Amino acid sequence: MREGSLEAPTRHRIAWEDPNFTDRDKTEAEMHRIFDICHTCRRCFNLCDAFPRLFDLIDNSESGELDTVAPADYRKVADACTLCDMCFMTKCPYVPPHEFNVDFPHVMLRYRAVERREGRIPLQQRELVKTDRNGRLASMIARPQERAYPAVAGDRSGHPS
Ligand code: SF4
Ligand code: SF4
Repeated sequence: MREGSLEAPTRHRIAWEDPNFTDRDKTEAEMHRIFDICHTCRRCFNLCDAFPRLFDLIDNSESGELDTVAPADYRKVADACTLCDMCFMTKCPYVPPHEFNVDFPHVMLRYRAVERREGRIPLQQRELVKTDRNGRLASMIARPQERAYPAVAGDRSGHPS
């Protein structure tokens, strides 16, 4: 694919079964590779909070290059990524099949998998993503409300019934 092509990007499968997927050193090495490409590109500077955090870390580092950013600070970038996929789908000219093979959201996801394996994801976040259980709990709370206010509960459009 040419840089900036209008063709749909190729999405490589997430290699979550590979033991290297949650290896911290290998994950940080891949982040370093992608962050360095982003540093020279900077198209996504205003897309979300993850990129300004990355560029601030680089610009405020000793050498002004990624080499003097501590890998421990990569967490600040990953924490700001909501995995919306916008950079991959709409902005980045270096997505596969381009040889640079930049998939920023996937490497953020991989970093979270590393953090989860190491038990670093806070309890509150671990509980929030249990959407099936949370939905069941919410419906248990909502049902008594529906019985108490059937006219409101019966018309969810907001119009009086
Ligand atoms: S996927 Fe993450 S880094 Fe990319 S635009 Fe969305 S929030 Fe930003
Ligand atoms: S994700 Fe792509 S477009 Fe965005 S800053 Fe990085 S290399 Fe540039």
